[in-house]
Amino acid sequence: MITQIHERRNSKNNIEDVIISDDIFKEARERLDIVDVAQRYGLQLDRHGKCLCPFHSEKTPSFTISREKQLWYCFGCNEGGDVIELAAKLLKLSRMDALRRLNDDFTLDLPLHNRPLTIAEKRIAAAQQAQRERARVLQERFDAWCQKACRTLTDYHRMLWYWRRDHAPQSEDAPLDPRFVYSLQHLDRAEYLCDILITGSGEELLDLYKTCGNEVNEIAAFIQHEADATTA
Ligand SMILES: [Zn+2]
Repeated sequence: MITQIHERRNSKNNIEDVIISDDIFKEARERLDIVDVAQRYGLQLDRHGKCLCPFHSEKTPSFTISREKQLWYCFGCNEGGDVIELAAKLLKLSRMDALRRLNDDFTLDLPLHNRPLTIAEKRIAAAQQAQRERARVLQERFDAWCQKACRTLTDYHRMLWYWRRDHAPQSEDAPLDPRFVYSLQHLDRAEYLCDILITGSGEELLDLYKTCGNEVNEIAAFIQHEADATTA
């Protein structure tokens, strides 16, 4: 009879219980002793495993626990079930929460990390996911910028290097080519920026991204302008 009650109650799994593997409940039942649990949560059983029912008012004990079957049943209120349902009912928790509590109180060490998340936890998880997504997008943008900036700066550096070499004055009194002058003024800076872009740490690159974004854009425009002037 007790077994029938147990099975009937077990068939009323709520969604939460379905999500968590039934094996976990089985494992918990195997690791727990229903008498230990009953006593831990305040029931004072006599040597026959009987006591006054905690779930209805009565004068003679009709609440019974079978250590052999690991089940409980009350002949007064017709409630009954397994050890997890007993803990759930005594502690006024859902089966899942009772399982968690038993896991802690009896150090069952069950792998409950796959338990369904609470609403608050879901909210936190969603916020963390959104933050990771934003970080990913920013990282992609940053990586793309670094690649583009690296191309721009190496082109720029190469161009200035050629300007310095190819447009240097041929004699002391020859007029200075503006490209040569420009290369004198900007080659060191171009070299410095290239160096950071090629060998800089992540932090240095980020700093460059924050502080020199406009400068790199202007350099890109300048290179484009020079290229157009050359082909024109
Ligand atoms: Zn009862």
